[in-house]
Formats: sequence, structure tokens, C-alpha cells
Amino acid sequence: MPELPEVEIVRQSLNKKIKQKKVKKVIIRNRNLRFKIPFNFNSHFQNKRIIKVGRFSKYLIIYLSQGSYCLIHLGMSGTIHIVENKKINKFTNSSFYNSPFLPKKHNHIEIVFDNFKIVYNDPRRFGFFQLIKNNLDLKKRFNHLGPEPFDKNFNLEYVYNYFSKKKKDIKSFLLDQKFISGIGNIYASEILFLSKINPSKKASLLSKNECQKIISNSKKILLKAISKGGSSIRDFKNTLGIKGGFQNEFKVYQQDGKKCKNLGCTDLIKKKIISNRSTFFCDSCQK
Ligand SMILES: [Zn+2]
Repeated sequence: MPELPEVEIVRQSLNKKIKQKKVKKVIIRNRNLRFKIPFNFNSHFQNKRIIKVGRFSKYLIIYLSQGSYCLIHLGMSGTIHIVENKKINKFTNSSFYNSPFLPKKHNHIEIVFDNFKIVYNDPRRFGFFQLIKNNLDLKKRFNHLGPEPFDKNFNLEYVYNYFSKKKKDIKSFLLDQKFISGIGNIYASEILFLSKINPSKKASLLSKNECQKIISNSKKILLKAISKGGSSIRDFKNTLGIKGGFQNEFKVYQQDGKKCKNLGCTDLIKKKIISNRSTFFCDSCQK
């Protein structure tokens, strides 16, 4: 499943390619994504210029001329491919997960520009496109979500106050999108290991110092994952020509049974299920 770093790589690839470009038309091959593609989809895009491609959490935001937007969520298996008209593309995928080449099936939406098109592929169809009329509606759309790890509102005051009197464990909070947006299961385990905090620890028992560690290490882990191109399972170059590779940097995620990577620790990494999700940690290093 694409996480924030993977979505950020898609954003960078797309932004580089379609910023300031004018949309010729859109082709809809299948309306039945997680939300049905509305009938005004074509008129929302046609002859409009793309101002830029932004992102909030795992949502891509296409900024269109005349002040409207289109959100794209990649769901479980969505990928966006950049296909040139004349060149034979070796790699079309704008990120590193799933197929590096345009698959033959499940190409649901095409946004066509002068010399190329972008193609939305999604075998499981949990992803969606959503048209947004104006800036106010865009803000409302994200009302139910907490700040991103990179947001200035994700600070000590916010985190420490949020945790007071809360009974849930810290691992569950890191996955709770109302508390913080965009941290997935892989990154939650890595952030807690780096912060030396046990994933089962009650959030209300965290000291200010521990909260601060969560804040800075969330940024650190995600920035590193973005710079490595995300945690792709496959090793291929995307359309920007960079290779994915954060999976080679995992300290605890899927490392159960292996020796802890902290210097001087002889313990093994353990796996346990917290809120239905696999959680990886070192009992000796994380208190
Ligand atoms: Zn350890």
C-alpha cells in the first residue's frame, strides 16, 4: 500500500511533468473507483492548466487554473504512469511500488496533454478522484484529519496535551489519522524504535522528552524514506530515474528474530499484534 513517502514521490514526478501544462481531455474507461467518477469530470479538467501538484498526508492535490482542485487517493493499489506519445517508455511508473511499466489491464483514467498522458491504474479500485470546487471546500475536506508530521502544528504542546488521560497505547496513536496524518504501519515501528519507546506504552505515560522524540523522529524517518524513494518492494527506477530503497534501511519492521541493530544490544527483534497490525520492536531498547 502506498504510504506518505511513496505518495510524495508520485507528487514530485507528476509535478515535474505536468506543472503549467494544459489538459487536452480526459478519458474515463471505468467510473467505478471507490467513489464513482462524476459526469462533470471532463469539464472540470478540459482546457485547464495545472498550476501544481501538492499533497496532504496520502492525498495528491492537483491545483487547476480558475481555483479548483482534484484530489487523488491511491487506495491500496493505485499507480500513476506517465506515458509519452512518441518515445517508447522504459519505465512509466511515477513511483516505485507495483509495476514499473504500464500494465495492460485496469487503466481506468487518462489525463491527456500535448505530447504525453498520465494514466491511473488500480487493480483493486480502492483509490479515488474527487473534484473540489474551491479553497474553502479543500480545507473542509481535511478537517477530520490531524496535522502531518511536517506541519508546525505537530508540536510538543499538541502531542503532550493530546495524550493526557488517553488510555490507548502509543503505537495505535501513531496510526490514528485524527491524531497525525500519514504515518503508516512500517514507519510507526521504525519511529518508536528510534525513539526507544515501547509500542505498548500507554500514551498518557509518555514524558515531554519522549513526546519530543516522537515528533522529531517522525520527521526524520519520513524524510529519510522520501529521500530513499519510499519502501518499495521492487527495485526499479521510476520516471525521475531514482531507485526506491528504504526497505534496506528497516531497523525493526519485518526484522523479527534478527539481532537488534542498536550497538551493544544482544536482544532479538520481537513481533506482536497491536490494534490488528504487526508491530516490531526490541524489548531491551524500548521502554
Ligand atoms: Zn535492542
